[in-house]
Amino acid sequence: MAEPASAATSPLLPPPPAPAPAPAPTAAASGTLALTFDDGPHPDSTPALLDALTAAGHRATFFLCGAQAERHPELVRALDEAGMAIANHSWSHPSLPGLPLPAVHEEIHRTNRVLAELTGRPPVLFRPPYGATSPAVARLAAEAGLTETLWDVDPRDWDGTAPDGIVAVLATARPGDTVLLHDHGNRNTVTALPAVLAALSARGLRSAALPH
Ligand SMILES: [Zn+2]
Repeated sequence: MAEPASAATSPLLPPPPAPAPAPAPTAAASGTLALTFDDGPHPDSTPALLDALTAAGHRATFFLCGAQAERHPELVRALDEAGMAIANHSWSHPSLPGLPLPAVHEEIHRTNRVLAELTGRPPVLFRPPYGATSPAVARLAAEAGLTETLWDVDPRDWDGTAPDGIVAVLATARPGDTVLLHDHGNRNTVTALPAVLAALSARGLRSAALPH
């Protein structure tokens, strides 16, 4: 009696080698997207977010407020040393189009200065608070060497979305998307992130840091 075909082909082959335990963030994947975290750094969320990203082999971009960076310099250094992108999100998070231009200039440049002091190089990306910009704000950002960067996917974690809701919205993210998340002490985002990263990896997607 013939053996089943599935058992006859390779009954004695050794098991395949174990996968590498820690894939590099730049490893080939079927696509990359960009997770971004605004408003930090914050001691109640930045360390946990950084741990989850590092453990899963993903990188992200942190749009930091200058005042928070000055208050928690060790968190900025930890993000930078872990290969996360550091970017400018204004000094005090005002809606910039409503401010006099000298105040907008100060919000942008003061933040550039503190981030450059902490990381050794000036940031190159800028996200205006609330995504609120104007031709004058965009011109001042460009003159400061910054490229305005908004987002494609917003799970509204700033508005109390529960962790499973954040995971569900991230399931709709596609390669090339920029995803808006927050690093201002929000526990729902911290709770959701490991599941978000696991789901991205299962889809062959990896979060990469934006050019910085
Ligand atoms: Zn913000």
